[in-house]
Amino acid sequence: PTGRKPLIAGNWKMNLTHLEAIAFLQKLAYGLPEKYYAKVEVAVLPPFTAIRSVQTVIDGDGLLMTHGAQDISQHGSGAYTGDVSGQMLAKLQCRYVTVGHSERREYHHEDDAVVNAKVRAAFANGIVPILCVGEGLDVREDSGQVGHCTAQLSAALEKVTPEQAATLVVAYEPIWAIGTGRVAGPADAQEVCAALRATLAELYDETVAAAVRVLYGGSVKSGNVGEIVGEADVDGALVGGASLDPDEFAKLCAIA
Ligand code: PEP
Repeated sequence: PTGRKPLIAGNWKMNLTHLEAIAFLQKLAYGLPEKYYAKVEVAVLPPFTAIRSVQTVIDGDGLLMTHGAQDISQHGSGAYTGDVSGQMLAKLQCRYVTVGHSERREYHHEDDAVVNAKVRAAFANGIVPILCVGEGLDVREDSGQVGHCTAQLSAALEKVTPEQAATLVVAYEPIWAIGTGRVAGPADAQEVCAALRATLAELYDETVAAAVRVLYGGSVKSGNVGEIVGEADVDGALVGGASLDPDEFAKLCAIA
């Protein structure tokens, strides 16, 4: 009994049009009866183009899941063609935004400074960052995962206040496990998630560390979610591929 409600967040990545998103939510609502939401928070993270539809369906039909976005600009407004601001996301009732996902770090060259700026932009707009950290295969093979991930966490939280940090969600996503079908073992997930929580205690205090939800992400499916969220410091999962099938995602959430 940690007091931390598990969070299962579905990262749709660049999948599902707004029409497909509406159909998805209807199927998910059928597949996951209301009683489950007392025990697990279920969030969907659609592409920008589907957020308005997702918000409207959740709101209009009184669905119990929450929603968020996959990226946020570090700037408030202005000449940043193609970017989307925190204010725009907040107006669409986005509760969460992923920041620091390995795909953004790799394909969009987002370094620790950008990740930190985006984390602060999210907080400034009342949106909770789901801060992603994780090591590549080379680092894992050198047993450097703990140092790598805790350094990413510390860098991302520069100038973040204790009050803000206490609401944070962190996702440990080993890059070698994302979309590969190769899942970290529960003990591997626990090792890094516990180290991330210990780092929060060092940066802030035990109260902040105990409040933050630390998720695991990387090839989580209904078949392995149970053992992963059974670990003491793993408070849920960030789910990519398995979040695109409403039946599978509902099953996964029910198990969690
Ligand atoms: C992700 O990219 O956040 C992720 C966890 O993907 P997958 O579940 O497909 O490995």
